[in-house]
Amino acid sequence: MQSNQLFTLFRLYIYSLIHSFTHSLIHSLIILLGANLGDRAQTLRRAADLLSERVGLVVQASGLYETAAWGVVDQPAFLNQVLLLETELEPEAVLDQTQAIETELGRIRHEHWGARHIDIDILYYDQKIIQTSRLIVPHPYLHQRRFTLVPLAEIAPEFVHPLLGKTAVELLGECVDMSDVKEI
Ligand code: ADP
Ligand code: MG
Repeated sequence: MQSNQLFTLFRLYIYSLIHSFTHSLIHSLIILLGANLGDRAQTLRRAADLLSERVGLVVQASGLYETAAWGVVDQPAFLNQVLLLETELEPEAVLDQTQAIETELGRIRHEHWGARHIDIDILYYDQKIIQTSRLIVPHPYLHQRRFTLVPLAEIAPEFVHPLLGKTAVELLGECVDMSDVKEI
């Protein structure tokens, strides 16, 4: 083998090492946004913008889905959206960022509109199973809530729940929550 061929092989080897290393640092993160006070669509947009600045690239975003809040009658309807991001942050660091964004957007709502509410929940982080005092992933209620499963099945229909072993579409098919979740 000639030395330039050897060099090419060596270069390919180094490239593949770099590729597998950088790739292992990128995690798939699926997040649920919810808002039910103020300009809900604007709050969701701002949350998505801040997440893309601080957590990682937003690869996919579902439509916006409205769900009537039942129980308390005078509670406004919720607007929900699911985002798929690529992040280099570890799960706890993601939670730090999502909680800071919740506080910031909550404060903005409070000052301008006398209302505040943005909820940012971590649904999935790769296939990882996490159970700490701060963080439970997959989100413990995701499979029970139609307002989560409908937008999730839109953008990640084949994503498998690591504990239940079912895709988003399968979970939606089996979900007993019959709330009306309509795309707006
Ligand atoms: P909820 O989302 O149930 O309405 P909050 O948004 O107030 O309630 O969150 C309450 C706590 O849930 C937070 O302090 C956070 O540490 C914890 N938590 C546990 N697992 C998750 C998760 N997967 N995503 C977001 N928060 C979580
Ligand atoms: Mg929450």
